[in-house]
Amino acid sequence: METRILGKTGLTVGIIGLGTEYLRRAPRDRVMQMVDTAADHGVTYVDLVFNFADYLDAFATALEGRRDEFVLAVHLGSAERKGQYEKTRSLKKCEKGFHESLARLRTDHADIVNVHFVKTQKEYERVKKKGIFSLASSLKEEGMATSVGMSTHDTAVAVDAATSGLVDVIMIQINLANNAMPHRNEMLALCAKEKVGVVAMKPFAGGKLLQQNRTVNLAQHQTGGKALKKKIPKVITPTHCLSYILSQVGVTTVVPGVSSAGEFEGVLHYLKATEEEKDFSGLLVDFEEYVTGDCVYCNHCLPCPAGIDIGECSRLLDRAKQGMTSEMWRTYEMCPEKASACTECGLCVQRCPFGVDVVSRMKEAAILFEGQKSNRSSTNL
Ligand code: SF4
Ligand code: SF4
Repeated sequence: METRILGKTGLTVGIIGLGTEYLRRAPRDRVMQMVDTAADHGVTYVDLVFNFADYLDAFATALEGRRDEFVLAVHLGSAERKGQYEKTRSLKKCEKGFHESLARLRTDHADIVNVHFVKTQKEYERVKKKGIFSLASSLKEEGMATSVGMSTHDTAVAVDAATSGLVDVIMIQINLANNAMPHRNEMLALCAKEKVGVVAMKPFAGGKLLQQNRTVNLAQHQTGGKALKKKIPKVITPTHCLSYILSQVGVTTVVPGVSSAGEFEGVLHYLKATEEEKDFSGLLVDFEEYVTGDCVYCNHCLPCPAGIDIGECSRLLDRAKQGMTSEMWRTYEMCPEKASACTECGLCVQRCPFGVDVVSRMKEAAILFEGQKSNRSSTNL
């Protein structure tokens, strides 16, 4: 595996890392297989986005005896409430959660303490005021973290952080679909100049880039006031996606979210791919405009008061629209709460960084999987 230096952290990392958002409920055996696959291929960067006990325990077991082979990013502010993910800005909860994560992982330090998901510049200012960056910095001074990171989806936030001196690493979504995202390339160049390492997330836009003949939403600002839908006709492979990302200025490593060792092996095909397989140049013409409004199943919109796993329902909805299978029915049946439980409170819509109309999607999922409309017919947004 080719390696790169992660900005001013000085850490050496493989160009492909491991994103773990789809391993939240994975059995221990599967997590062990994933970490074995990572070790076999020279994957070193592991992003541990959650602080669920079972999830961390599984990684602790998988990392036993080889902790030092990996660069672990632990998120400050990713918490759990009643079994669901929630983002917290409480200093006390952030600190407690971080220490609990280290204890669960059976390690005395994180390589990156990552200030979790800063959505807007306003929130960035609030996070600073609340002292969360200072907490991250203290954890670093006390030896419980080697470096400080921050995750965001907003280029303006990334620019503010990169020039602040507060962070060594920024985690942000980079993919073919946001090739034309305003100011993105300037932000990446700035990170390179400031020696802030860039960890690219969402390389396949939640898997959407890999679906053939799919339709994507184009936001109003790209069309002069009217939203449009556009078909992407060409076949796009994980290798195309990774090749594109790793060619962008400033990107150090990319962390694909994968749910099984087989899927991970498929992604790692990149390491032995030919130049022809890596050639993404013919695809760029389809991404001259910036795409938004599509769900990437990240669950940043949780917690849902109705207990719905929005990312999972949304993922199943998109897959079912391509062709329903009995496995999809079974997976949907296992969801703790169904899409029809949606009360249209709108909290998820406010939290979603991608402008997804979650309420409409829950209605669609309820009709498709349950043959019914959601609990309420009028919105109270
Ligand atoms: S609705 Fe938005 S925040 Fe929620 S899973 Fe989809 S993309 Fe993520
Ligand atoms: S609008 Fe529906 S899915 Fe979104 S948080 Fe409220 S109840 Fe949950």
